[in-house]
Amino acid sequence: MDLKVQKPAVGIMITNDWGDSKGYRVACECGSNECEHQVWVEADDIGVTTTIYSTTTTNFWSKTRWYYIWTLLTKGYIEQETCVIMSEQQTLNYAEILKSAIKDTVNFRKNKYDENKSS
Ligand SMILES: [Zn+2]
Repeated sequence: MDLKVQKPAVGIMITNDWGDSKGYRVACECGSNECEHQVWVEADDIGVTTTIYSTTTTNFWSKTRWYYIWTLLTKGYIEQETCVIMSEQQTLNYAEILKSAIKDTVNFRKNKYDENKSS
């Protein structure tokens, strides 16, 4: 199968664009918004950083309260996992969006810097 990058892209939605930082929402194939994650691409003086985070919800119904209390007492923390499943098309879109976000944010900063220099 020969897939092409889509615009607008399936599964990836831009949520914020402030020039030197861009935010995206990455959806999960399962359709639940509980496992989607947020991606931030930000350019600063040092370079570009990409931050990926997700908000997890605990499946409190899957374990008893005592399990959590016991785990907290013995381990000091409770582990939670979340994953995003992407189709081949979405993966391709994701990769391309990250690449163009790096380019866009870096260029934005460069143009701003050049403007400041000439004024
Ligand atoms: Zn999912």
